[in-house]
Amino acid sequence: DTLEIVASKSTGSEECSTPEDNINVVVRVRPLNEKEKRDRHGSTLTFPGNGQVIIEGNDVGQKRSHNRDSVRVFTYNVVFEPGATQDDILDYSGIKRIIEMGIEGFSCTAFCYGQTGSGKTHTLTGPPDLFVGKPNPKDPRHGLIFRSFVYLFQLIKNRKDVNYVLKASFMEIYNERVIDLLNPGSARKPLAVRWSKKSGGFFVENLFTVDCEELDDLLAVLEEGMRNRAVGSHAMNDHSSRSHTILTVHILSDQQTDGGVFLSKHGKINFVDLAGSELTKKTMSEGKTLEEANNINKSLMVLGYCISSLSDAKKRSGHIPYRDSQLTKLLADSLAGNGVTLMIACVSPAHYNHAETLNTLRYASRAKRIRTKPVIMMDPREALILSLKRDIHALQMENDHL
Ligand code: ADP
Ligand code: MG
Repeated sequence: DTLEIVASKSTGSEECSTPEDNINVVVRVRPLNEKEKRDRHGSTLTFPGNGQVIIEGNDVGQKRSHNRDSVRVFTYNVVFEPGATQDDILDYSGIKRIIEMGIEGFSCTAFCYGQTGSGKTHTLTGPPDLFVGKPNPKDPRHGLIFRSFVYLFQLIKNRKDVNYVLKASFMEIYNERVIDLLNPGSARKPLAVRWSKKSGGFFVENLFTVDCEELDDLLAVLEEGMRNRAVGSHAMNDHSSRSHTILTVHILSDQQTDGGVFLSKHGKINFVDLAGSELTKKTMSEGKTLEEANNINKSLMVLGYCISSLSDAKKRSGHIPYRDSQLTKLLADSLAGNGVTLMIACVSPAHYNHAETLNTLRYASRAKRIRTKPVIMMDPREALILSLKRDIHALQMENDHL
């Protein structure tokens, strides 16, 4: 079945509730695109199953060799291979548990990390043309956000005993400045991030929060935000790869218990499309871009640190630097609380992306050490066999093209 073919899950003894259950790390590998296929780019990744990814090869420009250092194995909760569908991500990423916890009043976050062009926006939102004109709710290309909305409505429609109110906001963080994607005017005058004594958390002052009674209302929020992001991106020399977006769904509920007590809950689900991870190192440029790169660098580093401390009791008891970036300030309640965090690491399989793919795989495995099995370095003979198998496959592909 699909799970076997396109996604492999790590089987392990840690299904029980350990602190590591707070974070789920999955990898999604996008397919090679038409140009990469035409240019006969092979894949730098192979998938032995069990939630593992093998990455092989050297950095661009270096001749591929069969040495021991060029083969690395990483293990995650789930690995989605290039053939995985948008539906597979909904079913097997762990997002359903996040939605269920959001309904129960927890603060949860799902975010996509990866280099520009690795499929973050595709995974969360869908292909770019989906939001040109009015999106069709039935379109099979919808990403994880809309699919989560559908699942959320299915669940709350079944709960006649509880009164739910849904609200949504959509913001962009560009260069440490917060822009309201539902209020284009805020692009000129960024919003302030403040500390609320009352709730004991950070919030964005004057951020539009829209009531969503129907699925259509949530879809309209997504559509409006995507449109404003595209417009802003155009005006500011395509900054979309250099900004983070956060779409938040608030789930407020009231339930009268048998004892007649009113139970009020406020759950939250954040969907975060992060800036391209490649910018964390490519800071050769100057001026504004350097400032941008530093800001992105910092927020992604701080985020990485905050997340890895979720599964590390020692770090958890120490100081966690949520206040060091706008992104982590705004996600702090979710990262520090009892909610669940889902990290989807998006990677390209193409050889010329090897260095960035390796970086993303490392960032993702730092976020959560999966202890189900020790990471095995392949012995050189096995690496050679694997590499030969790949060459044979590439030759077969070439043959097919002739
Ligand atoms: P990012 O947001 O990480 O910069 P995108 O989501 O924009 O990357 O993806 C780059 C391109 O690759 C887009 O044209 C997108 O439609 C395509 N793409 C990404 N992931 C997939 C996938 N899983 N299947 C098909 N096309 C994909
Ligand atoms: Mg994107």
